[in-house]
Amino acid sequence: MDYGENDKIVWLFTDKLGKVSAIAKGAKKNKSKYFSITLPFCYGEYTVFKGKSMYILSEGKTIESFQGFLSDLDTLTYASYICELIDISMVDEESNRELFKIMVSTLYLLKSRAVDDEILLRTYELNVLNHTGYAINFNECGICRRKIEGSNYISFQYYGGICSECPKSMGSVISRPAFNVLKYLSSMPLEKAYRINVSDEVKRELKRLMQMFISTNYSRVPKSLQMLDFIKEGE
Ligand SMILES: [Zn+2]
Repeated sequence: MDYGENDKIVWLFTDKLGKVSAIAKGAKKNKSKYFSITLPFCYGEYTVFKGKSMYILSEGKTIESFQGFLSDLDTLTYASYICELIDISMVDEESNRELFKIMVSTLYLLKSRAVDDEILLRTYELNVLNHTGYAINFNECGICRRKIEGSNYISFQYYGGICSECPKSMGSVISRPAFNVLKYLSSMPLEKAYRINVSDEVKRELKRLMQMFISTNYSRVPKSLQMLDFIKEGE
């Protein structure tokens, strides 16, 4: 296919087609009808058709541009991370409408600035794991399936808490409050989950644990959050 210097390859996560890349002819020109709908984070309605080697964008209409994310380093990083997690957890052209809805809701919640970003991201991570086949079980022991109220150990291999009787390996020690917060977040709809109050210490623990789950299940590790940590440590 002809690919000119003003053409742009865009990465789209769609409800119908899943994750696809498409070429937008002439989109780099300011006056192009594709200019605004191919900006990062843009949420819209797109019409694509299949070319020989990739999709070709023919129409697009912005629903919400989310360009406000670009004016703040925190929201820029979190929004990038939200997209990056889709990129690493999904294969191309596999539709996942539930995950699509969750991603869009998460971006709107981030935009509202009325929620705790850390808790929003953890809830999102739990949802991504859940909707890509890696749901974590907080109600039964991951090994013997006995009912558990809580646990001080969470297994990355068995995707859940481990009871006091079963062997503990391939996982991490977890504090009671952290276990309870994860259990709560995984059982609540996204729109309600972030209302919980969590101490900074537990937040740090949850972040570390969720990063472990993500890095053990997907082939790549997200880079966007690490960058922000690095910048903040230097402040
Ligand atoms: Zn057990």
